[in-house]
Amino acid sequence: MPFALDRRSFLSGTAGFIALHPFSARAAANQAHLRIMETTDLHVHVFPYDYYADKPRDTVGLARTAALIQAVRDEAANALLIDNGDFLQGNPMGDYIAYERGMKDGDTHPVIQAMNTLGFDASTLGNHEFNYGLDFLMKSLAGADFPVVNANVALELGSDPTRDKTLVPPYVILEHKVTDGAGTEHPIKVGLIGFAPPQVMTWDRRHLEGKVQARDILETAKAYIPQMKERGADIIVVLSHSGIGAADASDGMENAAIPLAGLDGVDAILTGHSHLVFPSPDYAGFAGADVTAGTLMGTPATMGGFWGSHMGLIDLLVEKDGAEWRVVSAMSEARPISQRNDDRSITPLVESDAEVLASVGVEHEETLTYVRRAVGKTDAPLHSYFALVADDPSVQIVSIAQLWYIAQMLKGTDHEGLPILSAAAPFKAGGRGGPEYFTDVPAGDVAIKNVSDLYLYPNTARAVRVTGQQVKDWLERSAGIFNQVTPGAQDVVLLNPEFPSYNFDVIDGVTYQIDLSQPSKYDPKGVLVEAGANRIVNLMYDGAPLDMAAEFIIATNNYRAGGGGDFPGASGETTVFEGPDTNRDVIVRYIVEKGTISPRADGNWSFAPLPGTTVLFDTGPAATAYLDQVDLTIEEAGDGPDGFARFRIRL
Ligand code: MN
Ligand code: MG
Repeated sequence: MPFALDRRSFLSGTAGFIALHPFSARAAANQAHLRIMETTDLHVHVFPYDYYADKPRDTVGLARTAALIQAVRDEAANALLIDNGDFLQGNPMGDYIAYERGMKDGDTHPVIQAMNTLGFDASTLGNHEFNYGLDFLMKSLAGADFPVVNANVALELGSDPTRDKTLVPPYVILEHKVTDGAGTEHPIKVGLIGFAPPQVMTWDRRHLEGKVQARDILETAKAYIPQMKERGADIIVVLSHSGIGAADASDGMENAAIPLAGLDGVDAILTGHSHLVFPSPDYAGFAGADVTAGTLMGTPATMGGFWGSHMGLIDLLVEKDGAEWRVVSAMSEARPISQRNDDRSITPLVESDAEVLASVGVEHEETLTYVRRAVGKTDAPLHSYFALVADDPSVQIVSIAQLWYIAQMLKGTDHEGLPILSAAAPFKAGGRGGPEYFTDVPAGDVAIKNVSDLYLYPNTARAVRVTGQQVKDWLERSAGIFNQVTPGAQDVVLLNPEFPSYNFDVIDGVTYQIDLSQPSKYDPKGVLVEAGANRIVNLMYDGAPLDMAAEFIIATNNYRAGGGGDFPGASGETTVFEGPDTNRDVIVRYIVEKGTISPRADGNWSFAPLPGTTVLFDTGPAATAYLDQVDLTIEEAGDGPDGFARFRIRL
């Protein structure tokens, strides 16, 4: 049947409405419709399941994306399926395989198994492929029934990129077949080349130093693309595990997709790494990006979200001109697996593919056991009932793990040797979340699923470089959560309800007291309102008053470092390290490595004494059980509003 008459060639959306894709309808005798499907940043999400929360989740899972893939394949044979990297790490299934089950020779990694089941044509390496080391990576790749390409990570560098001894093949030229508008089948050679951010050398230094080296993405691409052309590639598709960032190239840039798309010879570009969607308003206003046309520098491009949330799709209308194929028209889109409704509920748009689910069914069950079972021990209860009024172990464990991680990441950089402090806030601390909304992990075993309770948000780790003055002002900003208290006053309501607990950063590595008799320097939004105010007193570092001119590193998260909460010293400008790892992963790694953790609060902050003064503090009723463990003069004071329990603190 002539391709142009194939009425199954386009399944519109998911409603089952079948229409002809315009490229299929239009393809002439010397033209063909070539489709390229992308998954990216799967991070081991095969089942639509959140292993941290231990419940199903409709926004994730390759088993769901598989339904979109199958729909496209049902329409036409001219489709390639490509993964854009970050498949091996990023959820508890990945950790289970890496930390528990291991990869013996001959084992197949579950995400590779699922990809094999779907018949992927190729993949590239993302930065997270390196998280468990090269041996684990190579054993995992050995099970892939498809080529995995990357051109800019090399075991040995040569005199130019094409002479490097790369870790995996730099590119592959697939001998694909397309059917033209007259129904004639033609061979077409599709060249696929892959790139990862060269920052892997920092992010995974402990695994990579002395073993591989990474090159600049653009330098490498410019060297290889002419060679791919010489070797017969008709069409070149770039697998950019590098996000959409600046239009201007800079040396070693992490998010190089726009200048990469602009290189001669690039016919289409698959992007990822940023966990966003292209084309979509995510990238409106980016120089070089056209979110309406779906192009970067005029080249068709896609980014399929993350964790299987979307399938990226590029449709090319290719034309044979003598011996050469060229792209005459292109379209791109990103198809979602679910939709968010106005009331914030989620409706799945597709059902899971049973074969893909079955391919990792055993590992799914094993992962459930893994997240529910102890991976470490805590010798102190981890609860947040008093996290806003006293130094607290649930915040302390986050601080400790961040500090441990950032110290590793800054090794060998210009920032090594600076004192490292760590900032963390209680995320679950009642407030609008209600009287049950607290972290509460008893002493004893810690399971992986508890970690989501310790770190609620999927933030990524950051380090900022600040002055002593900025450290103090950061704490002044935090201290705005408290109402001002007149010395000698009785039963003053302590907390300002307008101030969310996630902006109450405690900084570990310094010691300080908060003088509630002083006005707050900042309002709840972070606006400077009392320039001369000093709530933070007795601020000490290493046993001496903090030097306001000295420099410090603060370990934190991307929200804070990027200006979230408008903290002094955290405007984005002061960021010196942007980690690819989530704070949650950092905590899991820390617990796995340490075995038993001792997140005892070190009492590095407290209220300055105000003799004869009392304040009222509302928290969860379950706090009563821990009253004797908190370092405060505190007593029960009846019921608070809305199911909260009220306590009286003697300052
Ligand atoms: Mn990723
Ligand atoms: Mg502390």
